Amino acid sequence: MSMHLDAATVICARWVAPVAPDATLIYENYAVVLDSRGKIADLCAIPEATEKYSDSAIEFVHLPNHLLIPGLVNAHTHTGMTLMRGKADDEPLLTWLHNTVWPIEGKFTHRERFCHDGALLAAAEMLISGTTAFADMYWNPIEAAEAVERAGIRALLGLICIGFPSHFAKSEQEYIENGIRIAETLKDKERITLAWAPHAPYTVSDSALKQLGQLSTDMQIPLHVHLHETEDECSASAKLETTNPACHRSEHAARPLSNFDRLGLVNSRLLAAHVVHTTDEEISLLANSGANVVHCPSSNMKLASGFCRVSDMIAAGVHVALGTDSAASNNSLDMFSEMRAAALLAKNVSRDPTTVPAATALKMATLNGARALGLSDELGSIELGKQGDLVAVELGTRVHTAPVFHPLSTLVYSATREDVREVWVGGKRLVSNGKLLHLDVAELLVSAEQWMSQMTKEMSSTT
Ligand SMILES: [Zn+2]
Repeated sequence: MSMHLDAATVICARWVAPVAPDATLIYENYAVVLDSRGKIADLCAIPEATEKYSDSAIEFVHLPNHLLIPGLVNAHTHTGMTLMRGKADDEPLLTWLHNTVWPIEGKFTHRERFCHDGALLAAAEMLISGTTAFADMYWNPIEAAEAVERAGIRALLGLICIGFPSHFAKSEQEYIENGIRIAETLKDKERITLAWAPHAPYTVSDSALKQLGQLSTDMQIPLHVHLHETEDECSASAKLETTNPACHRSEHAARPLSNFDRLGLVNSRLLAAHVVHTTDEEISLLANSGANVVHCPSSNMKLASGFCRVSDMIAAGVHVALGTDSAASNNSLDMFSEMRAAALLAKNVSRDPTTVPAATALKMATLNGARALGLSDELGSIELGKQGDLVAVELGTRVHTAPVFHPLSTLVYSATREDVREVWVGGKRLVSNGKLLHLDVAELLVSAEQWMSQMTKEMSSTT
């Protein structure tokens, strides 16, 4: 007879890294108990769990060589662009956007299933890589939502606003009206939350930004935006070089972050991707306002955007999460790579090997990501009452992860996403033994191949 009638699953792991209350904490030979709603109902030593939860209806999962971590949170991506993976590499951001990304998007994103197929491919890649939630910014959140529902992953979907016409809207105002309508359509979807998503200071006007800031406050949802990604964006805006495509669309000569502050957008709902270029004053502003920075180390390195001052930000108290950015500028949706890159890069940028230790990298990839998504009460750590979004990573059984002196060190510096064995979202197992349980990989590959052929055929004159 069980003492806890609502226990549904007992996951017994060699190590558990709960991330909170302390990111360095490791429980050994511990059990995480999920209730029938998929929430974390208990945390205790394995012998205690075996005794307490002896009811035969309760599923026991034994993970004798595994580290159980909270599901990773990819706090900045563009899932539809997964279909453009490898289409154009080794170019500066604006060249890449103007010559490849935007022309393809102009032709394809409104076609039925494009955004769905990209999002489903992305969701599959993220799940088998241990990512259980992501913040998306892309053209068709309705199709992305279908993919999210089908995949079983969790998502903060962006309601896009951009200052040029597309098949989706003719004006910023129409994007905003669309967003309000989409928010209404998606409001009751399980595992889906929404953010306003003005693309960037150099593509969205002050009046639209101000309106979106107000909507973000009224609806209590994040404002997801690219900010201070390139040096050019900051300097052109400060000098108001309006002929420079990186210049913000404000009439004020100011760096975009200070303009955002003037517009009332710098607060705890701000989810600012990149924030590569910052002054000390800007870091203080980000810290004092409680804003969220999403560091995207691989994308920044690939586009040579510069070096985010992660170490200084963390020291100042800024909440720094991690993101992959899109699979077209990374070129993968692998948060293991981002954790490792973030840790290594921060040390080198600050010339301080003690900065961003493994535990901090894991916290950035989990709890800080959950906070950026506005979901830190529900996700990001293994604590009572939180969602059963869990990832088991097998350590010490393959040559590249042996021996395991410190599981967090092995996780961040030695393990790869190939070591992810089990993944649960909301208590439902979506990956087992490294395989997706509910998605047909062959079908995903066929659709990726078909879209590639179509893009190659139709874009041959453009690129
Ligand atoms: Zn981005």
